Amino acid sequence: MFSKILIANRGEIACRVAATARRLGVRTVAVYSDADANAKHVAACDEAVHIGGSAPKESYLQWERIIAAAQATGAQAIHPGYGFLSENEAFADACAQAGLVFIGPPSSAIEAMGLKAESKRLMEQAGVPLVPGYHGTDQDPALLQREADRIGYPVLIKASAGGGGKGMRAVDKAEDFAAALASCKREAINSFGSDAVLIEKYVQRPRHIEIQVFGDTHGNCVYLFERDCSVQRRHQKVLEEAPAPGMTPALRQQMGEAAVAAAKAVNYVGAGTVEFIVEQPGGYDHPEQMKFYFMEMNTRLQVEHPVTEAITGLDLVEWQLRVASGEPLPLQQHELSMQGHAIEARICAENPDNNFLPATGRLDVYRKPAHVAFERGGVRFDDGVREGDTISPFYDSMVAKLIVHGANRAEALAKLDAALVQTRIVGLATNVQFLRHVVRSGAFASAQLDTALIPREAAVLFKQDKVGLGLAVAAAVAQTLVHEKAGEDADPFSRTDGWRPFGLTQRRFDFEYLGEPLTAKLTYGHDGALQLAVGGVASPLVFGALPVDSGTAVDLRFNGQRQTVQCWQLGESVHLFCDLGATVITELDALAHAGETAAEGGRLTAPMPGKVVSFAVKAGDMVKKGQPLAVMEAMKMEHTIAAPADGTVAELLFAPGDQVAEGAELLKLQAASA
Ligand code: ADP
Ligand code: ADP
Ligand code: MG
Repeated sequence: MFSKILIANRGEIACRVAATARRLGVRTVAVYSDADANAKHVAACDEAVHIGGSAPKESYLQWERIIAAAQATGAQAIHPGYGFLSENEAFADACAQAGLVFIGPPSSAIEAMGLKAESKRLMEQAGVPLVPGYHGTDQDPALLQREADRIGYPVLIKASAGGGGKGMRAVDKAEDFAAALASCKREAINSFGSDAVLIEKYVQRPRHIEIQVFGDTHGNCVYLFERDCSVQRRHQKVLEEAPAPGMTPALRQQMGEAAVAAAKAVNYVGAGTVEFIVEQPGGYDHPEQMKFYFMEMNTRLQVEHPVTEAITGLDLVEWQLRVASGEPLPLQQHELSMQGHAIEARICAENPDNNFLPATGRLDVYRKPAHVAFERGGVRFDDGVREGDTISPFYDSMVAKLIVHGANRAEALAKLDAALVQTRIVGLATNVQFLRHVVRSGAFASAQLDTALIPREAAVLFKQDKVGLGLAVAAAVAQTLVHEKAGEDADPFSRTDGWRPFGLTQRRFDFEYLGEPLTAKLTYGHDGALQLAVGGVASPLVFGALPVDSGTAVDLRFNGQRQTVQCWQLGESVHLFCDLGATVITELDALAHAGETAAEGGRLTAPMPGKVVSFAVKAGDMVKKGQPLAVMEAMKMEHTIAAPADGTVAELLFAPGDQVAEGAELLKLQAASA
């Protein structure tokens, strides 16, 4: 075993690797960028080396500096985590040349699997089933169009060098192909430095089921069963579980053996994942009819590896370290078994109700359920951030991974929902409530899985208000009164326990809830009882304050409901969390809110900090409402900025490649005069 390793990554995966290393007595070296100077992963390691600026290109992708850091600190091996340099064969080679062990497969295996098209040709030879498609080297657009027509629509165009859900376009009909190809190629060249694409039949209602494999340097290779990652948004995983619901032992063995064949075809060593797209010709009720096709192999540890750890009882990072230091695999195929059911939810800084737009900001409040971290347990919470940390635009938007393990799927679902209730984040938008809606949806609960589950179930997943106006207002009023009572000694005029300053018997509150202004009236009875009128409901309001370490918690009764509500006030906004859900209500200060949200005509601003990829227009162009004007890239996603109205482009204020701040004006648009 190594005595010291360098972890060439950040965030939760760097902390994850550090935890196992520490348990095994292996010392760790962190690397960090400017933005990460005080990051959790730096504290999690024994030593840390600064490697440059905040943008990945200036730090986490600077492999000469990373290798120099390993040499300077005496590390014997480098763990690349996932993303960044993990699937970069040149980096793996450079490690070897510098006398360092790359904790991953041989560079030849990374190279062979690195290009989706070439790996498919290789898998075809190895007898692994493939999706019907075109993966040739000839990239003539006319030929690609003919191939798509031959395969039959819908088809999927994929960047050959792509990954992370980027560079993919589904095309429904022949007329749309050329435009989709152009946009796919643009994203591909920008993100992966190559615009080669492949075309595949778009499998209808497929599931994504992948097999975890492990090889060693002694010629052994095993599969650690499957993970179902069908619940996706934008082709990116949201929930992952193991085992796959409905999986039969026979199909598991077939898929496992196909995955091992795929790994052996490239002399695989270490942790890898073979991803399959699975057709369900018999529908959800006949999983035994599922047909699987090779999609790609990820030659690294996967984000969702903890669900496999949960059901197998193994530590995959420990296996990685053992294999990289030359030991044989700790177990053989017949010694592996599964127990119970595990589900992982990716908690991301994003706004599900606004097309999953990534969010940035400070984790002002960041509370987690009772949990273990970076090790197996009933509720596991792996993250690389702490309360007060900032989610910056430089890296991806994943805040944490919540992994539950139960005796069966129903138990795991219940644990996951309960743990999500206890996950309370204030300061930036997250998908926590959205995840709850998915977990509680009939489709997910009954395992009617396919990659379109989210769009299919949109009606019960998006724009859900489970708390409701009445309870939200009651909670906000109660927390204001608790607050005032706490300040009573300092300010006798704000007493609220039945006596009002200046003999008030009624009090008016102005709020904004879900974008709508509203007024609530609180009436004080002679006996000190409170009556709250809001939204056409008048009901007694009864509450008691509960002791909490920060914020305010009230045990609340209003309009036939009883809930314990945890409240945090930030500025004018009160963030509410209860068993029903979470919401935000804003107290309107009569003076502060006049006209501040009026639309600014002609201003087109960056919705988030990021990089300008391209402008689709130039000064002087006439544009129509909804026409794409510019493309921005932030947090590994492309966002198109469209014209809010008809008009003429007056001026472009940035150039492609420029980094822009949130709210920066990108271009000037002269609205067509009415
Ligand atoms: P998984 O490991 O579950 O397949 P993802 O596909 O989302 O997870 O990728 C893992 C991480 O690596 C994510 O943070 C993703 O943004 C990043 N990533 C994946 N592929 C690439 C790539 N080719 N280039 C840069 N980042 C990538
Ligand atoms: P990435 O490298 O970004 O992970 P993949 O090729 O692994 O890309 O595909 C990611 C997701 O895209 C899959 O999980 C699935 O949802 C969808 N997908 C990929 N190929 C197909 C296909 N042929 N038909 C339908 N959906 C597909
Ligand atoms: Mg994939």
